[in-house]
Amino acid sequence: MLHDIFDREHLWHPYTSTIDPLPSYMVESASGVRIRLEDGTELIDGMSSWWAAVHGYNHPVINEAARQQLDSMSHVMFGGFTHHPAVELGKLLLQVLPPNMHNIFYADSGSVAVEVAMKMAIQAAICKSGDTKKTNFITIRSGYHGDTWNAMSVCDPVTGMHSLFGPALSARYFAPSPSCGFYDEWDPHCTDELETLIRDHADELAGMILEPVVQGAGGMKFYHPEYLKKARELCDRYGLYLVFDEIATGFGRTGKLFAWEHAGVMPDIMCIGKALTAGYMTMSAVATTKDVADTISRGAAGVLMHGPTFMGNPLACAVAVASIRLLLDSNWKANVDRIEAMMKRLMPAARSFPCVADVRVLGAIGVIETKEPVDVGRFQKRCVAEGIWVRPFGTRVYIMPPFIMSDEDLEFLIRKLLLIVSEL
Ligand SMILES: *Cc1c(COP(=O)(O)O)cnc(C)c1O
Repeated sequence: MLHDIFDREHLWHPYTSTIDPLPSYMVESASGVRIRLEDGTELIDGMSSWWAAVHGYNHPVINEAARQQLDSMSHVMFGGFTHHPAVELGKLLLQVLPPNMHNIFYADSGSVAVEVAMKMAIQAAICKSGDTKKTNFITIRSGYHGDTWNAMSVCDPVTGMHSLFGPALSARYFAPSPSCGFYDEWDPHCTDELETLIRDHADELAGMILEPVVQGAGGMKFYHPEYLKKARELCDRYGLYLVFDEIATGFGRTGKLFAWEHAGVMPDIMCIGKALTAGYMTMSAVATTKDVADTISRGAAGVLMHGPTFMGNPLACAVAVASIRLLLDSNWKANVDRIEAMMKRLMPAARSFPCVADVRVLGAIGVIETKEPVDVGRFQKRCVAEGIWVRPFGTRVYIMPPFIMSDEDLEFLIRKLLLIVSEL
């Protein structure tokens, strides 16, 4: 059976009504870039399970790492204990993160990483300035930083959930989403409003948080790397901590190992998640500089005020280590370039469809923006019928395939996608 009655009656899926739920397809297994449904249908995966499964599914190397770790221990508390998987992961992360990163905090999910990063910024800002007013944040519109309380407060105020939660959500400062696209010529006026906002409110701002270069679930937009240079300059001038949310962009997706490299601009605090464990388990991390870490430790509390139950989970750490090693040992860059080249060759054909407003590609991310919001249920039914897996939101139909996808499968995925979009 493709749709389970118990599931439909009792299980909540992301952003889904209990009265009129979107269909959920019963998955039997997944391997490589193929997701197999219970009725035997095989789907070529265009989503990497929301940015995460960069090596595809059921990877023998990662499976083996998980099995080995399971046989020694799946979990011990991180309070008072440490273990080799945590240490190994930390060493690997410091090799691939911006060179100014020095201290790492392991957390449970992307949203929690954002919460932790915001707490870090506030604790450090208050300690550094001695000013307890420096507790607010500035961000840019069309951002997405997760679904927990503070993460939600810095998501786009229109497409996010601000109106629903009203005054229960802290009021943040929002600069416009960068008007200068990744491939446009840099327009210095792009940061004018950002500059004004930061200048006028510096005394209450702990930091600025943004997704570098690629805005994910808030709009699937690619903006000019020069914007980050200006953001860095303004944060330095007005005493704000700069937080990069690389939860979606990290681990090669944009054509750089991390998106900050497009601009060469380093943050003070950085969040990673999603592809960190290649989609095997939930884990995230927040990295920061020695200066931020030590400033917090000199503050009133003397410690960072956070400590999740499953912090540094050994199984998740071991899987993350295996995934990062696999990424660095594989030719991830050649794969991402290859995927980008084919998407750039085939996807622009959609520009001539009457329903399409824009097509854009960066790294292994391909976006078709439609003029009208897409009916997700109907769209996915067509995808399943054609043998691909793509889940649009609003007017964004996008693919971000696993890096291991062959040219043949990728061409199949794109051609079927174009066919389905052309019918809209
Ligand atoms: C997905 C995402 C998050 C939230 O991560 P979860 O693991 O879903 O909590 C935060 N920021 C960005 C940029 C994301 O893409």
